[in-house]
Amino acid sequence: MNRIIWVAGHVDIASNEMADKAAKDAALEAAAWCKEEDNSVKIVQEVKTHIRQGIIADWQRSWNVQVEGRFTHSLIPSVNTKPMRTNFHRTTDIKFNRLQSGHTLLPSHAHKLGFTATDLCSCGRDKDTIAHAILHCPIYTKPRETLIAELEAIFRKANTPFHLSTIDISTILGPNEDLPPDVRLSIRKATGRFISASKVKI
Ligand SMILES: [Zn+2]
Repeated sequence: MNRIIWVAGHVDIASNEMADKAAKDAALEAAAWCKEEDNSVKIVQEVKTHIRQGIIADWQRSWNVQVEGRFTHSLIPSVNTKPMRTNFHRTTDIKFNRLQSGHTLLPSHAHKLGFTATDLCSCGRDKDTIAHAILHCPIYTKPRETLIAELEAIFRKANTPFHLSTIDISTILGPNEDLPPDVRLSIRKATGRFISASKVKI
């Protein structure tokens, strides 16, 4: 059987006072340590951010001065550009990526590599460059008209001024980072429909 008995409090007992003080000191030390731990986490995060910013800045400097890839640089000048998910059909996706990279099967590029005898478009009007195929070639007039009409509707819906003269390769193939994400995605999808409908060999 247990007996409950009264014992004197430890107030004024020297050893107990010392134990109390030691416990309080330990608690304060632990609190300070925890605070330092928080600071350590913050410092690690700041260092990580700093390293990441440094890597991106180096990458950007390199991207700005490289000799290769200037066409892509004109479309996507910032290395920090976020990719867009479009759910294109795989063929359209491949063609879109080729267009952005500037490495296509169009005669202007294939001729440089020795794959075609000429760099002229089969329409006979000009060199078959990406700009010619998308913006000017009469072979793709119909899908281009649809693309322009879609772009006009997208810009109108977004209350963004639309001028046909300002629609260029950057608008059609670039990330358009100055526009809201939904507008950018709509433009990208319209471009995908043009690539698909025109059946342009890229
Ligand atoms: Zn042509």
